[in-house]
Amino acid sequence: MFPIGDEVVTIVGAGLAGAEAAWQVARRGVKVKLYEMRPVKLTPAHHSGAFAELVCSNSLRAASVQNAVGLLKEEMRFLNSLIMECALQSQIPAGGALAVDREEFAALVTQRLESHSLVEIVRAEVTQIPVERPLVIATGPLTSPAFSSSLEEITGAGSLYFYDAAAPIVTFESINLEKAFFASRYDRGGRDYLNCPFSEAEYSCFHEALCSGAVYEGKEFEKEIFFEGCMPVEVLATRGKDTLCFGPLKPVGLTVPDTGEQPHAVVQLRRDNREGTLYNMVGFQTRLLRREQQRIFRLIPGLENASFARYGAVHRNTFINSPLLLDATLEVKEHPGIFFAGQITGVEGYVESAAAGLVAGINAYCRATGVIPLTFPKETATGSLLNYITTADPQYFQPMNVNFGLLPPLSEKGKKRERKERMVARSLENLSIFRKNYHGLLA
Ligand SMILES: Cc1cc2nc3c(=O)[nH]c(=O)nc-3n(C[C@H](O)[C@H](O)[C@H](O)COP(=O)(O)OP(=O)(O)OC[C@H]3O[C@@H](n4cnc5c(N)ncnc54)[C@H](O)[C@@H]3O)c2cc1C
Repeated sequence: MFPIGDEVVTIVGAGLAGAEAAWQVARRGVKVKLYEMRPVKLTPAHHSGAFAELVCSNSLRAASVQNAVGLLKEEMRFLNSLIMECALQSQIPAGGALAVDREEFAALVTQRLESHSLVEIVRAEVTQIPVERPLVIATGPLTSPAFSSSLEEITGAGSLYFYDAAAPIVTFESINLEKAFFASRYDRGGRDYLNCPFSEAEYSCFHEALCSGAVYEGKEFEKEIFFEGCMPVEVLATRGKDTLCFGPLKPVGLTVPDTGEQPHAVVQLRRDNREGTLYNMVGFQTRLLRREQQRIFRLIPGLENASFARYGAVHRNTFINSPLLLDATLEVKEHPGIFFAGQITGVEGYVESAAAGLVAGINAYCRATGVIPLTFPKETATGSLLNYITTADPQYFQPMNVNFGLLPPLSEKGKKRERKERMVARSLENLSIFRKNYHGLLA
């Protein structure tokens, strides 16, 4: 079905993304040169030389397609993903989640690539950007320091980040607009922010919960970045009861529309995507555990029923400013033939990283064979995620998990569950049409 010629796609990193990208290229009949530095050199989180090693949890999260990550996995399965195939083969019981035997999973992925006649594996650290094209860079959140430095040749000094200090993002539809109101401080600019006003009593209760919330204890290598830049909101809170009221929760220049009075404190939310379906909690980077973020941030007036599209985080994570640098095909705008894949693009999570690897692999194959790279439809989970990371505001760009808030809203109203079902059906239908339209490439 696919051609076999002299073209070679070079891939750096054989994690979730690089392994998937290599598979997508090789299964289409083009040779792959795959560089992986492990086990010669380990990252601070990996323990083995196996490809696609899961560095922490053994869960690929929700299995049901009624969940955004479940939908993403279904799309990947439909596109012959190696990561999905090996995950299903090494699956172990985990209720509604797809969990795997991590060693069996990584061994399967490694064996499938090692035994592929078109895949050449080089166990060495890459320290300079290879000159060969097409090139896929998939070195992940723990990209080796030497290679990170050379990446600045592509990204420029200001567009490569080394940690993630991300505030939570909530869906617009879950915000209670009877309490939250649109306004800008001192009415400057448009009514761009959603403001959640606190009374003094509400603030006291929130402050107490914030100071006593359970936080994530990072690994040793994550600790050094902790205080460098953005301070976690719970750390600021412990400095004094009013510290937040002079910082991210300052109420000056804002009045509650119903009373005309200045609230005691205000949480501001800023629109996070063009469609206005997602809102970012300004200044709320945090190391609180996820369940604690749910419990404590829902004490904020207007966020009682908040649905979290992503949780706040502060951890080591190398990623590029994709909205500035990449097309939705994952190709570098200024350097045709170079693609990025995986967590380094600003997607977050095992499945999302593998999905980005799948698209980068297909598109590197396109470049190798003289075909224009593909942009996945925004109505699919895959396309919506790549659309987000390449069109978000570059000034505030932070990594993102897949979620339904990234998909274009439906025109019809209805119950939340029904709307989700319609979105899932729309995604799968769009992907099916897309695959038919590009049958020669996506079969
Ligand atoms: C500590 C930690 C815990 C995480 N826990 C989870 C979790 O529980 N669930 C979840 O969904 N996500 C988690 N993530 C986020 C993320 O999804 C994973 O890191 C995921 O593995 C990213 O896939 P990737 O392919 O982009 O990177 P990786 O899987 O890390 O693959 C990158 C590969 O590139 C190699 N490499 C790096 N530099 C070079 C170089 N210069 N030359 C050659 N090879 C190189 C590395 O050895 C590695 O094999 C975690 C991340 C970290 C850092």
